[in-house]
Amino acid sequence: MSTETAQDDLRGYRGISREVLARDGIRVWSEVRAKTKQGQFEGLVLPRSETADELHIVLKLDSGYNIGLAADQIESLEEVGRREAQYKIPEKKFPYSAGKPRVKLFGTGGTIASRLDYRTGAVIPAFSPGELYGSVPELADICNLETEKLYGIFSENMGPEQWIGVAQACAAEIEKGIDGIVIGHGTDTMHHTAAALSFMLQNPPVPIVMVGSQRSSDRPSSDATLNLIHATYTAARSDIAEIVVCMFGPTSDDYGLLHRGTRVRKMHSSYRSTFRTIGDRPLATVEREKITILNPGYHQRCPRGESNLALNAAFDDRVSLVYYYPGMKPDVIESLVDNGYRGIVFAGTGLGHVNRAVYPAIEKAREAGVASYMTVQTIWGYTQMYVYETGREIMGLGVEPIANMLPEVAYVKLGWALGQTDDLGEIKKIMQTPINGDITEREPPDGYLVYQGGLPEIEEFMRRVHR
Ligand code: GLU
Repeated sequence: MSTETAQDDLRGYRGISREVLARDGIRVWSEVRAKTKQGQFEGLVLPRSETADELHIVLKLDSGYNIGLAADQIESLEEVGRREAQYKIPEKKFPYSAGKPRVKLFGTGGTIASRLDYRTGAVIPAFSPGELYGSVPELADICNLETEKLYGIFSENMGPEQWIGVAQACAAEIEKGIDGIVIGHGTDTMHHTAAALSFMLQNPPVPIVMVGSQRSSDRPSSDATLNLIHATYTAARSDIAEIVVCMFGPTSDDYGLLHRGTRVRKMHSSYRSTFRTIGDRPLATVEREKITILNPGYHQRCPRGESNLALNAAFDDRVSLVYYYPGMKPDVIESLVDNGYRGIVFAGTGLGHVNRAVYPAIEKAREAGVASYMTVQTIWGYTQMYVYETGREIMGLGVEPIANMLPEVAYVKLGWALGQTDDLGEIKKIMQTPINGDITEREPPDGYLVYQGGLPEIEEFMRRVHR
Protein backbone atom coordinates (compact mmCIF):
# COMPACT_ATOMS: atom_id res chain seq x y z
CA MET A 1 0.00 0.00 0.00
CA SER A 2 1.19 3.50 -0.73
CA THR A 3 2.58 5.42 2.21
CA GLU A 4 1.26 8.69 0.77
CA THR A 5 -2.08 10.40 0.73
CA ALA A 6 -3.01 13.59 -1.06
CA GLN A 7 -2.60 15.45 2.22
CA ASP A 8 0.70 13.78 3.06
CA ASP A 9 3.33 16.27 4.24
CA LEU A 10 5.95 14.41 2.21
CA ARG A 11 3.77 14.18 -0.85
CA GLY A 12 5.27 12.01 -3.56
CA TYR A 13 8.54 11.25 -1.74
CA ARG A 14 9.56 7.65 -1.21
CA GLY A 15 12.59 5.71 -0.02
CA ILE A 16 15.76 7.56 0.91
CA SER A 17 14.50 11.03 -0.07
CA ARG A 18 11.51 10.55 2.24
CA GLU A 19 13.78 9.37 5.06
CA VAL A 20 16.06 12.42 4.74
CA LEU A 21 13.11 14.84 4.79
CA ALA A 22 11.53 13.09 7.78
CA ARG A 23 14.87 12.95 9.63
CA ASP A 24 15.18 16.76 9.55
CA GLY A 25 11.47 17.45 10.10
CA ILE A 26 10.98 18.97 6.65
CA ARG A 27 7.68 18.93 4.77
CA VAL A 28 6.70 19.69 1.21
CA TRP A 29 6.35 23.49 0.87
CA SER A 30 9.06 24.10 3.50
CA GLU A 31 11.56 26.75 2.53
CA VAL A 32 14.84 25.13 3.39
CA ARG A 33 18.54 25.75 3.66
CA ALA A 34 20.19 22.56 2.46
CA LYS A 35 23.80 21.75 3.28
CA THR A 36 25.09 19.18 0.83
CA LYS A 37 28.45 17.72 -0.11
CA GLN A 38 28.28 19.96 -3.20
CA GLY A 39 27.50 23.18 -1.30
CA GLN A 40 24.59 25.05 0.18
CA PHE A 41 21.24 25.66 -1.56
CA GLU A 42 18.09 27.51 -0.54
CA GLY A 43 14.69 26.92 -1.99
CA LEU A 44 11.21 25.55 -1.64
CA VAL A 45 10.67 21.79 -1.33
CA LEU A 46 8.32 20.79 -4.13
CA PRO A 47 6.04 17.77 -4.20
CA ARG A 48 7.55 14.83 -6.07
CA SER A 49 5.63 13.31 -8.92
CA GLU A 50 4.55 9.71 -8.41
CA THR A 51 6.63 8.40 -11.28
CA ALA A 52 9.83 10.18 -10.26
CA ASP A 53 12.75 8.35 -8.65
CA GLU A 54 13.19 8.17 -4.89
CA LEU A 55 16.78 9.44 -4.87
CA HIS A 56 16.19 13.19 -5.20
CA ILE A 57 14.56 16.05 -3.34
CA VAL A 58 13.36 18.82 -5.63
CA LEU A 59 13.94 22.43 -4.68
CA LYS A 60 12.58 25.45 -6.46
CA LEU A 61 15.24 28.15 -6.33
CA ASP A 62 14.43 31.87 -6.26
CA SER A 63 15.58 32.09 -9.88
CA GLY A 64 12.55 29.97 -10.83
CA TYR A 65 14.63 26.93 -11.75
CA ASN A 66 14.03 23.60 -10.10
CA ILE A 67 16.97 21.47 -9.02
CA GLY A 68 17.16 17.93 -7.74
CA LEU A 69 19.35 17.34 -4.68
CA ALA A 70 20.67 13.80 -4.38
CA ALA A 71 19.30 12.67 -1.01
CA ASP A 72 22.49 10.76 -0.12
CA GLN A 73 24.55 13.94 -0.57
CA ILE A 74 22.50 16.00 1.88
CA GLU A 75 24.17 16.69 5.22
CA SER A 76 21.34 18.70 6.77
CA LEU A 77 18.10 20.48 5.95
CA GLU A 78 16.91 23.42 7.98
CA GLU A 79 13.40 24.86 7.64
CA VAL A 80 13.54 28.66 7.25
CA GLY A 81 9.92 29.27 6.21
CA ARG A 82 6.72 27.87 4.65
CA ARG A 83 4.98 28.78 1.42
CA GLU A 84 2.02 26.54 0.76
CA ALA A 85 0.79 26.28 -2.81
CA GLN A 86 -2.71 27.11 -3.82
CA TYR A 87 -3.89 23.89 -5.37
CA LYS A 88 -7.06 25.49 -6.54
CA ILE A 89 -6.76 28.44 -8.85
CA PRO A 90 -9.41 30.99 -7.95
CA GLU A 91 -12.28 30.30 -10.32
CA LYS A 92 -13.83 33.34 -11.89
CA LYS A 93 -16.89 32.79 -13.98
CA PHE A 94 -15.94 33.11 -17.62
CA PRO A 95 -18.23 35.88 -18.87
CA TYR A 96 -20.45 35.01 -21.81
CA SER A 97 -20.89 37.75 -24.37
CA ALA A 98 -23.44 37.28 -27.10
CA GLY A 99 -21.92 38.07 -30.47
CA LYS A 100 -18.38 36.94 -29.64
CA PRO A 101 -17.05 33.91 -31.53
CA ARG A 102 -17.12 30.53 -29.80
CA VAL A 103 -13.73 28.88 -29.41
CA LYS A 104 -13.02 25.39 -28.16
CA LEU A 105 -9.74 24.77 -26.36
CA PHE A 106 -8.67 21.14 -26.29
CA GLY A 107 -5.94 20.18 -23.85
CA THR A 108 -3.54 17.35 -24.56
CA GLY A 109 -0.87 18.17 -21.98
CA GLY A 110 2.64 19.57 -22.07
CA THR A 111 3.89 22.63 -20.25
CA ILE A 112 1.10 24.90 -21.41
CA ALA A 113 -1.66 22.79 -19.92
CA SER A 114 -0.01 21.72 -16.75
CA ARG A 115 1.50 24.89 -15.46
CA LEU A 116 -0.59 27.81 -16.43
CA ASP A 117 -0.76 29.00 -12.88
CA TYR A 118 2.36 27.49 -11.55
CA ARG A 119 3.45 30.04 -8.95
CA THR A 120 4.67 28.34 -5.86
CA GLY A 121 6.28 25.51 -7.66
CA ALA A 122 3.40 23.07 -7.83
CA VAL A 123 2.17 21.59 -11.03
CA ILE A 124 -1.27 23.05 -11.07
CA PRO A 125 -3.39 22.47 -14.10
CA ALA A 126 -5.43 25.53 -15.03
CA PHE A 127 -7.90 24.29 -17.44
CA SER A 128 -11.53 25.06 -16.81
CA PRO A 129 -12.69 28.26 -18.53
CA GLY A 130 -13.00 29.82 -15.08
CA GLU A 131 -9.41 28.98 -14.15
CA LEU A 132 -8.12 30.20 -17.47
CA TYR A 133 -10.10 33.38 -17.05
CA GLY A 134 -8.50 33.80 -13.62
CA SER A 135 -5.01 33.48 -15.11
CA VAL A 136 -5.47 35.03 -18.58
CA PRO A 137 -8.43 37.43 -18.38
CA GLU A 138 -7.72 38.72 -21.92
CA LEU A 139 -9.24 35.51 -23.29
CA ALA A 140 -12.71 36.72 -22.35
CA ASP A 141 -12.23 39.85 -24.49
CA ILE A 142 -11.57 37.64 -27.50
CA CYS A 143 -14.21 34.93 -27.42
CA ASN A 144 -16.60 32.70 -25.53
CA LEU A 145 -14.32 29.88 -24.50
CA GLU A 146 -15.16 26.25 -23.85
CA THR A 147 -12.51 23.79 -22.73
CA GLU A 148 -12.10 20.04 -22.78
CA LYS A 149 -9.18 17.98 -21.60
CA LEU A 150 -8.55 15.22 -24.13
CA TYR A 151 -5.26 14.01 -22.62
CA GLY A 152 -2.86 15.11 -19.93
CA ILE A 153 0.44 13.84 -21.29
CA PHE A 154 3.81 15.14 -22.38
CA SER A 155 3.99 15.26 -26.11
CA GLU A 156 6.61 12.53 -26.41
CA ASN A 157 3.71 10.26 -25.46
CA MET A 158 1.42 11.54 -28.18
CA GLY A 159 1.13 9.14 -31.11
CA PRO A 160 -1.24 7.78 -33.73
CA GLU A 161 -3.94 6.86 -31.19
CA GLN A 162 -4.03 10.43 -29.84
CA TRP A 163 -3.74 12.02 -33.32
CA ILE A 164 -6.88 10.14 -34.30
CA GLY A 165 -8.59 11.11 -31.04
CA VAL A 166 -7.78 14.81 -31.53
CA ALA A 167 -8.87 14.73 -35.19
CA GLN A 168 -12.20 13.16 -34.24
CA ALA A 169 -12.76 15.63 -31.41
CA CYS A 170 -12.09 18.57 -33.77
CA ALA A 171 -14.45 17.15 -36.39
CA ALA A 172 -17.19 16.78 -33.75
CA GLU A 173 -16.79 20.43 -32.70
CA ILE A 174 -16.85 21.60 -36.31
CA GLU A 175 -20.02 19.59 -36.82
CA LYS A 176 -21.55 21.48 -33.89
CA GLY A 177 -20.63 24.83 -35.49
CA ILE A 178 -17.63 26.05 -33.47
CA ASP A 179 -15.89 29.23 -34.78
CA GLY A 180 -12.34 28.15 -34.06
CA ILE A 181 -10.31 25.49 -32.23
CA VAL A 182 -7.18 25.81 -30.10
CA ILE A 183 -5.17 22.71 -29.17
CA GLY A 184 -2.79 23.00 -26.22
CA HIS A 185 0.09 20.59 -26.77
CA GLY A 186 3.62 19.91 -25.55
CA THR A 187 6.03 21.55 -27.94
CA ASP A 188 8.37 18.62 -28.53
CA THR A 189 6.16 16.76 -31.00
CA MET A 190 3.69 19.48 -31.85
CA HIS A 191 4.85 19.38 -35.46
CA HIS A 192 4.12 15.66 -35.74
CA THR A 193 0.58 16.20 -34.48
CA ALA A 194 0.19 19.26 -36.72
CA ALA A 195 1.15 17.13 -39.73
CA ALA A 196 -1.20 14.31 -38.70
CA LEU A 197 -4.12 16.72 -38.31
CA SER A 198 -3.27 18.37 -41.65
CA PHE A 199 -3.84 15.00 -43.34
CA MET A 200 -6.70 13.75 -41.20
CA LEU A 201 -8.73 16.99 -41.23
CA GLN A 202 -8.73 18.45 -44.70
CA ASN A 203 -10.57 21.64 -45.70
CA PRO A 204 -11.51 22.66 -42.18
CA PRO A 205 -14.02 25.53 -42.26
CA VAL A 206 -12.39 27.28 -39.27
CA PRO A 207 -8.86 27.78 -37.92
CA ILE A 208 -7.37 24.90 -35.91
CA VAL A 209 -4.52 26.40 -33.94
CA MET A 210 -1.92 24.41 -32.03
CA VAL A 211 -0.16 26.13 -29.17
CA GLY A 212 2.31 25.31 -26.45
CA SER A 213 4.87 26.99 -24.29
CA GLN A 214 8.59 26.61 -23.91
CA ARG A 215 8.73 28.10 -20.39
CA SER A 216 6.25 27.48 -17.62
CA SER A 217 4.22 30.44 -16.45
CA ASP A 218 5.82 30.69 -13.03
CA ARG A 219 8.84 32.13 -14.81
CA PRO A 220 8.89 35.79 -15.76
CA SER A 221 10.06 34.83 -19.24
CA SER A 222 7.12 32.51 -19.87
CA ASP A 223 5.60 32.48 -23.32
CA ALA A 224 2.46 30.64 -22.13
CA THR A 225 0.10 33.59 -21.71
CA LEU A 226 1.02 35.43 -24.88
CA ASN A 227 0.98 32.27 -26.99
CA LEU A 228 -2.45 31.44 -25.62
CA ILE A 229 -3.77 34.94 -26.36
CA HIS A 230 -2.34 34.81 -29.89
CA ALA A 231 -3.69 31.33 -30.56
CA THR A 232 -7.14 32.14 -29.20
CA TYR A 233 -7.32 35.35 -31.22
CA THR A 234 -6.26 33.44 -34.35
CA ALA A 235 -8.88 30.75 -33.76
CA ALA A 236 -11.63 33.27 -33.05
CA ARG A 237 -10.95 35.89 -35.66
CA SER A 238 -8.50 34.90 -38.36
CA ASP A 239 -9.46 33.96 -41.86
CA ILE A 240 -6.86 31.17 -42.00
CA ALA A 241 -8.84 27.94 -41.90
CA GLU A 242 -5.90 25.58 -41.68
CA ILE A 243 -4.05 23.58 -39.09
CA VAL A 244 -1.44 26.04 -37.85
CA VAL A 245 1.11 26.23 -35.07
CA CYS A 246 1.13 29.51 -33.15
CA MET A 247 4.29 30.24 -31.15
CA PHE A 248 6.77 33.06 -30.49
CA GLY A 249 8.35 34.55 -33.63
CA PRO A 250 11.51 36.16 -32.23
CA THR A 251 12.91 35.26 -28.83
CA SER A 252 11.42 38.51 -27.53
CA ASP A 253 7.68 38.85 -27.11
CA ASP A 254 7.27 41.18 -30.13
CA TYR A 255 4.97 38.88 -32.10
CA GLY A 256 3.91 35.32 -32.70
CA LEU A 257 4.13 33.44 -35.98
CA LEU A 258 1.51 31.23 -37.58
CA HIS A 259 3.13 28.25 -39.26
CA ARG A 260 1.42 25.86 -41.65
CA GLY A 261 1.02 22.42 -40.03
CA THR A 262 2.93 20.55 -42.75
CA ARG A 263 5.90 22.92 -42.98
CA VAL A 264 6.70 23.57 -39.35
CA ARG A 265 9.38 22.09 -37.14
CA LYS A 266 10.68 22.55 -33.63
CA MET A 267 14.25 23.76 -34.20
CA HIS A 268 15.67 24.72 -30.82
CA SER A 269 15.47 22.84 -27.57
CA SER A 270 14.99 25.90 -25.35
CA TYR A 271 14.41 29.16 -27.27
CA ARG A 272 10.86 30.41 -27.13
CA SER A 273 11.16 31.11 -30.86
CA THR A 274 11.75 27.43 -31.46
CA PHE A 275 9.21 26.80 -34.25
CA ARG A 276 10.26 27.69 -37.78
CA THR A 277 8.51 27.33 -41.08
CA ILE A 278 10.83 25.29 -43.28
CA GLY A 279 11.24 26.03 -46.96
CA ASP A 280 8.46 28.59 -47.13
CA ARG A 281 7.29 31.77 -45.48
CA PRO A 282 5.26 31.48 -42.31
CA LEU A 283 1.58 32.22 -42.96
CA ALA A 284 1.31 35.32 -40.78
CA THR A 285 2.45 37.25 -37.76
CA VAL A 286 0.11 37.80 -34.84
CA GLU A 287 0.51 40.66 -32.37
CA ARG A 288 -2.20 40.33 -29.75
CA GLU A 289 -5.20 41.40 -31.84
CA LYS A 290 -3.51 42.05 -35.17
CA ILE A 291 -2.78 39.46 -37.82
CA THR A 292 -0.46 40.36 -40.71
CA ILE A 293 -0.45 37.90 -43.58
CA LEU A 294 2.99 37.00 -44.95
CA ASN A 295 1.94 34.14 -47.22
CA PRO A 296 -1.40 34.81 -48.89
CA GLY A 297 -2.13 31.39 -50.47
CA TYR A 298 -3.99 29.93 -47.51
CA HIS A 299 -7.30 28.07 -47.16
CA GLN A 300 -9.95 30.55 -46.11
CA ARG A 301 -12.57 30.38 -43.39
CA CYS A 302 -15.98 29.25 -44.67
CA PRO A 303 -19.11 31.31 -44.07
CA ARG A 304 -20.85 30.26 -40.81
CA GLY A 305 -22.78 27.02 -41.17
CA GLU A 306 -20.85 25.81 -44.23
CA SER A 307 -18.20 23.10 -44.18
CA ASN A 308 -16.43 20.81 -46.63
CA LEU A 309 -14.42 19.16 -43.90
CA ALA A 310 -13.05 15.74 -44.87
CA LEU A 311 -12.23 13.68 -41.78
CA ASN A 312 -9.97 10.77 -42.61
CA ALA A 313 -8.50 9.49 -39.36
CA ALA A 314 -6.55 6.42 -40.44
CA PHE A 315 -3.06 5.30 -39.46
CA ASP A 316 -0.96 2.16 -39.73
CA ASP A 317 1.88 2.35 -37.25
CA ARG A 318 4.01 -0.24 -39.03
CA VAL A 319 5.99 2.62 -40.50
CA SER A 320 9.42 3.89 -39.55
CA LEU A 321 11.62 6.94 -40.03
CA VAL A 322 15.24 5.91 -40.61
CA TYR A 323 17.78 8.68 -40.18
CA TYR A 324 20.76 7.58 -42.19
CA TYR A 325 24.25 7.91 -40.69
CA PRO A 326 27.60 7.00 -42.24
CA GLY A 327 28.43 3.43 -41.38
CA MET A 328 24.80 2.27 -41.21
CA LYS A 329 24.54 -1.49 -41.55
CA PRO A 330 21.85 -3.32 -43.51
CA ASP A 331 20.51 -5.10 -40.41
CA VAL A 332 18.81 -1.88 -39.28
CA ILE A 333 16.57 -2.02 -42.34
CA GLU A 334 16.34 -5.81 -42.42
CA SER A 335 14.95 -5.88 -38.92
CA LEU A 336 12.13 -3.57 -39.96
CA VAL A 337 11.28 -5.86 -42.86
CA ASP A 338 11.51 -8.95 -40.64
CA ASN A 339 9.19 -7.33 -38.10
CA GLY A 340 6.48 -6.70 -40.67
CA TYR A 341 6.90 -2.96 -41.21
CA ARG A 342 5.05 -1.78 -44.29
CA GLY A 343 6.65 1.61 -44.82
CA ILE A 344 10.05 3.27 -44.40
CA VAL A 345 10.89 6.93 -44.77
CA PHE A 346 14.60 7.59 -45.10
CA ALA A 347 16.15 10.88 -44.09
CA GLY A 348 19.14 10.66 -46.40
CA THR A 349 22.27 12.76 -46.67
CA GLY A 350 22.53 15.72 -49.05
CA LEU A 351 20.14 15.34 -51.95
CA GLY A 352 18.85 11.99 -50.63
CA HIS A 353 21.56 9.37 -50.27
CA VAL A 354 22.47 6.29 -48.21
CA ASN A 355 25.56 4.09 -48.45
CA ARG A 356 26.02 1.10 -50.71
CA ALA A 357 26.14 -1.29 -47.74
CA VAL A 358 22.41 -0.97 -47.16
CA TYR A 359 21.37 -1.53 -50.77
CA PRO A 360 20.67 -5.27 -50.34
CA ALA A 361 18.42 -4.49 -47.37
CA ILE A 362 16.53 -1.88 -49.38
CA GLU A 363 16.08 -4.46 -52.11
CA LYS A 364 14.79 -6.92 -49.54
CA ALA A 365 12.30 -4.29 -48.39
CA ARG A 366 11.05 -3.80 -51.92
CA GLU A 367 10.63 -7.56 -52.41
CA ALA A 368 8.60 -7.68 -49.19
CA GLY A 369 6.27 -4.95 -50.53
CA VAL A 370 7.51 -2.25 -48.16
CA ALA A 371 6.81 1.30 -49.39
CA SER A 372 10.06 3.30 -49.19
CA TYR A 373 10.46 7.06 -49.55
CA MET A 374 13.44 9.42 -49.43
CA THR A 375 13.60 12.78 -47.68
CA VAL A 376 16.61 14.94 -46.84
CA GLN A 377 18.22 15.37 -43.45
CA THR A 378 19.39 18.85 -44.46
CA ILE A 379 15.73 19.73 -43.66
CA TRP A 380 15.78 22.67 -46.06
CA GLY A 381 15.72 21.85 -49.78
CA TYR A 382 14.57 19.09 -52.09
CA THR A 383 15.57 15.51 -52.75
CA GLN A 384 17.27 15.39 -56.14
CA MET A 385 18.11 11.81 -56.89
CA TYR A 386 18.97 12.22 -60.55
CA VAL A 387 22.09 14.27 -59.86
CA TYR A 388 24.47 11.55 -58.63
CA GLU A 389 24.86 7.90 -59.47
CA THR A 390 24.00 7.06 -55.86
CA GLY A 391 20.58 8.69 -56.14
CA ARG A 392 19.80 6.87 -59.37
CA GLU A 393 20.87 3.54 -57.88
CA ILE A 394 18.70 4.04 -54.80
CA MET A 395 15.71 4.95 -56.93
CA GLY A 396 16.45 1.83 -58.96
CA LEU A 397 15.95 -0.15 -55.74
CA GLY A 398 12.45 1.24 -55.41
CA VAL A 399 12.94 4.20 -53.08
CA GLU A 400 10.79 7.14 -54.20
CA PRO A 401 12.07 10.70 -53.69
CA ILE A 402 9.50 12.89 -52.02
CA ALA A 403 10.53 16.43 -53.00
CA ASN A 404 10.72 18.86 -50.06
CA MET A 405 8.43 17.01 -47.68
CA LEU A 406 9.93 17.18 -44.20
CA PRO A 407 11.07 13.79 -42.84
CA GLU A 408 8.61 13.80 -39.93
CA VAL A 409 5.78 14.87 -42.21
CA ALA A 410 6.63 12.07 -44.67
CA TYR A 411 6.63 9.58 -41.79
CA VAL A 412 3.17 10.73 -40.68
CA LYS A 413 1.84 10.84 -44.23
CA LEU A 414 3.10 7.35 -45.02
CA GLY A 415 1.44 5.92 -41.89
CA TRP A 416 -1.75 7.76 -42.86
CA ALA A 417 -1.58 6.43 -46.46
CA LEU A 418 -0.88 2.85 -45.26
CA GLY A 419 -3.87 3.15 -42.95
CA GLN A 420 -6.05 3.63 -46.02
CA THR A 421 -4.82 1.09 -48.55
CA ASP A 422 -2.48 -1.84 -49.26
CA ASP A 423 -2.04 -0.89 -52.88
CA LEU A 424 1.52 0.40 -53.42
CA GLY A 425 0.48 2.38 -56.52
CA GLU A 426 -2.28 4.08 -54.54
CA ILE A 427 0.13 4.80 -51.70
CA LYS A 428 2.57 6.40 -54.14
CA LYS A 429 -0.23 8.57 -55.51
CA ILE A 430 -1.21 9.71 -52.01
CA MET A 431 2.43 10.40 -51.08
CA GLN A 432 3.17 12.41 -54.22
CA THR A 433 -0.04 14.45 -54.31
CA PRO A 434 0.61 17.66 -52.35
CA ILE A 435 -1.69 18.13 -49.36
CA ASN A 436 -1.80 21.42 -47.46
CA GLY A 437 1.71 22.43 -48.55
CA ASP A 438 3.53 19.24 -47.54
CA ILE A 439 5.22 19.44 -50.96
CA THR A 440 5.71 22.83 -52.58
CA GLU A 441 6.79 23.55 -56.12
CA ARG A 442 9.60 25.82 -55.12
CA GLU A 443 11.18 27.37 -52.09
CA PRO A 444 10.72 31.13 -52.24
CA PRO A 445 14.06 33.01 -52.18
CA ASP A 446 13.10 34.46 -48.81
CA GLY A 447 11.90 31.12 -47.47
CA TYR A 448 15.21 30.21 -45.86
CA LEU A 449 15.38 31.56 -42.32
CA VAL A 450 13.71 34.80 -43.40
CA TYR A 451 10.54 36.28 -41.91
CA GLN A 452 11.19 34.12 -38.93
CA GLY A 453 11.96 36.68 -36.32
CA GLY A 454 15.55 36.89 -37.59
CA LEU A 455 18.51 35.24 -36.01
CA PRO A 456 18.30 36.12 -32.33
CA GLU A 457 22.03 36.37 -31.68
CA ILE A 458 22.58 38.66 -34.65
CA GLU A 459 19.64 40.88 -33.74
CA GLU A 460 20.92 41.15 -30.18
CA PHE A 461 24.42 42.00 -31.47
CA MET A 462 23.02 44.68 -33.82
CA ARG A 463 21.01 46.19 -30.99
CA ARG A 464 24.15 46.52 -28.91
CA VAL A 465 26.20 47.96 -31.78
CA HIS A 466 23.52 50.50 -32.77
CA ARG A 467 22.56 51.52 -29.27
N1 GLU B 1 8.55 17.43 -23.24
C1 GLU B 1 7.27 17.93 -22.90
C2 GLU B 1 6.32 18.04 -24.08
O1 GLU B 1 6.67 18.25 -25.21
C3 GLU B 1 7.30 19.22 -22.14
C4 GLU B 1 7.81 20.40 -22.91
C5 GLU B 1 6.71 21.23 -23.47
O2 GLU B 1 5.56 21.19 -23.10
O3 GLU B 1 7.03 22.00 -24.37
O4 GLU B 1 5.16 17.88 -23.85
